Amino acid sequence: MGNRQKYEEFYRESIDNKEDFWRKQAELVEWDTPFNEVLDYSNPPFAKWFPDGKINLCHNAVDRHLTERGDQNALIWVSTEENKSVEITYQDLHDQVNQAAAVYQSLGVGKGDRVLIYMPMIPQAVVAMLACVRIGAVHSVVFGGFAAHALASRIDDATPKVIVSADAGLRNGKPIPYKPLLDASFEQITTPKPKVLMVNRGLAQGFTLGEEEYDWDGEMGKNIGKRVAAVSVESTHPSYILYTSGTTGTPKGVQRDTGGHAVAMRASMKHIYDLQPGETMLTGSDIGWVVGHSYIVYAPLLTGATTILYEGLPIRPDPGIWWSIIEKYKVSVMFTAPTAIRLLKKTGEEWIEKYDLSSLRYLFLAGEPLDRETHRWISGTLTGSVVDNYWQTETGWPILTNFAGLGLMETKFGSPALPAYGYDVQLVDEQTAQPVKANEKGSLMIKPPLPPGCMTTIWGDDKRFVETYFSRFKELMYASFDYAMHDDDGYYFIMGRDDDVINVAGHRLGTREIEEILCTHPSVVEVAAVGIKDELKGQEVVAFVVTNQDMGPAGEADLKALVSREIGPIARPKHIYMVNGLPKTRSGKVLRRAILSLAEGDDPGDLPTIDDASVLDGIKSSLKKP
Ligand code: AMP
Repeated sequence: MGNRQKYEEFYRESIDNKEDFWRKQAELVEWDTPFNEVLDYSNPPFAKWFPDGKINLCHNAVDRHLTERGDQNALIWVSTEENKSVEITYQDLHDQVNQAAAVYQSLGVGKGDRVLIYMPMIPQAVVAMLACVRIGAVHSVVFGGFAAHALASRIDDATPKVIVSADAGLRNGKPIPYKPLLDASFEQITTPKPKVLMVNRGLAQGFTLGEEEYDWDGEMGKNIGKRVAAVSVESTHPSYILYTSGTTGTPKGVQRDTGGHAVAMRASMKHIYDLQPGETMLTGSDIGWVVGHSYIVYAPLLTGATTILYEGLPIRPDPGIWWSIIEKYKVSVMFTAPTAIRLLKKTGEEWIEKYDLSSLRYLFLAGEPLDRETHRWISGTLTGSVVDNYWQTETGWPILTNFAGLGLMETKFGSPALPAYGYDVQLVDEQTAQPVKANEKGSLMIKPPLPPGCMTTIWGDDKRFVETYFSRFKELMYASFDYAMHDDDGYYFIMGRDDDVINVAGHRLGTREIEEILCTHPSVVEVAAVGIKDELKGQEVVAFVVTNQDMGPAGEADLKALVSREIGPIARPKHIYMVNGLPKTRSGKVLRRAILSLAEGDDPGDLPTIDDASVLDGIKSSLKKP
């Protein structure tokens, strides 16, 4: 049987016979209390997977491997920032996670409590995550590149009992202190200040602990040798919250369950990523993003594999760094974002050819569109296969992909191939909700129930979950907010978001969040932020600002700094243009598409609903200014 046929059968089974299909997949993990029911879908679109089963994620990721793999590395930390690497076996990881769980308990954290993790890429971050799920606490990791306002809004929404952080992250050899950002966020929060647990790397000057703030090493030291039983939780118990951006300014807390999550992660390693127990995976991402949650932490550890946690840039000390790690640790599977590969493409294939990469079977790329040229270049340079996969924070694992574990099918450059098992993907006309024909653009929707591992709701807001994702058409359908088309072979091509979310170097940003922050400046009256095409990063933020007074020559720099300080450097606009007005409809709606066309140097076309067409000239002339 050919690989395509094998895939078709597997896929059909997952859709037509989903309960049997997922019952089989669920055997890949260890249950404390076996489930009888596979799926409770009595309250659409809320899917409860394995609802009467009980399980612990940390047990499955760590304890379960101790007898067979206690001495095998679970985690290898490679930091080119500190010039260090540390190997942590499953036994060591078990010890550290138990200690950390005891620390949490001493700080009053129990089942269902939230712990916010705001950390650089250091092993303690992974320990902090696993210790949460060990005791049924719910972690919420906030990307270390986010700043005060972004952090404060997440603290207020998740109301954590404890925040785990570190004195500083490192970027390009320079420390980026976290404590001042944390303290600034505490000034902004409206909920009680959480306790703080700080890892002190000795990087930040004048770093002190305040009231209810504790030193990680000190607290861990009090709990050496402690054992904390892994708490058996309901399969539907939340394992984590991960905030992501959408159309409105308020980030959404994507909530993931425990049982479905464990099964989906483990199954994806078998069927999609083809990583075997005992093998090594390198995921060049950050634990603050979903790729980090799934493919640095949970999926490799649930598989009994070794995961490499990399702190540093992909081109420092030189562009060969990742390939040298692959050679040294005999990495079998690598995962990163297309931006990193575009960056390496600029430095040339000689950096890749220098190393023995015979262990590397696959490079998976996701998080943003993989352009054909980059796909072709990297495929021609590596002997292993390059696989584009499409998914979202909301789903936690691929929606569209090729399947290394089932046997790779044909690769088409620019296409993340075919729907993954469990996803009933539909491409529909955005007006009529009718399926579009091959080679026509449509909205990518998923017919619920969403498979295991996908978000189960928005933290604390079931109504927003339904309204955001399932209210586009009369029929309940999950909206991905992406346009796509498929060709005559059923291969999909992603054609960009249909909302105001942009993607800068694989980092998802809501333009509304940026606009709201710029509007807090007393001189700013109105803002439109858009994402323009960028050859390297995919997109870049630019903002058009209407002010009530001349901000002078420093105006642009001040506004950029405001965004960096409040949201984080990743959201910092590349350009800020001062304009007299924004194009709007007569009813006052900002014509964002027209602004984007102008910013990209295109003609905005006919705008019959525009109120005052003269503002377009103002935008054009601001774009011409150096
Ligand atoms: P995030 O939730 O941060 O992972 O961002 C998800 C969004 O990134 C998707 O909705 C897509 O717009 C985009 N995306 C992710 N992977 C791909 C891919 N392989 N090809 C094209 N776009 C992608």
